[in-house]
Amino acid sequence: MTAERLIACHECDLLQREAPLTGEGVLRCCRCGAELYRHHRDSLDRALAYTLTCIVLFVIGNTYPIVGLSVNGDLVETTLLGAVRVLYTDGMWPIAGLVFVTTFLMP
Ligand SMILES: [Zn+2]
Repeated sequence: MTAERLIACHECDLLQREAPLTGEGVLRCCRCGAELYRHHRDSLDRALAYTLTCIVLFVIGNTYPIVGLSVNGDLVETTLLGAVRVLYTDGMWPIAGLVFVTTFLMP
């Protein structure tokens, strides 16, 4: 007797034998067609490329100004962290904390 693994469809709860995927592919439920699992070639390399790209974009996004205002010839620009600092110094520390957490700390 071979030890075959059973997997349950998360949509219809049908128990099915797990089939190995060779190469790229998607295994679907034979009753409802829901996706059970998939395999992509080079998925780790792809995730690493996305992560490195996100890091570069995060640095660029926090280095350059997000808003600029020109009044009477004076140009005032601020970055995201500069906006958080201005909110904090103006006494709006809950909003400053929320902006800092959701735009700088969490991503
Ligand atoms: Zn199903």
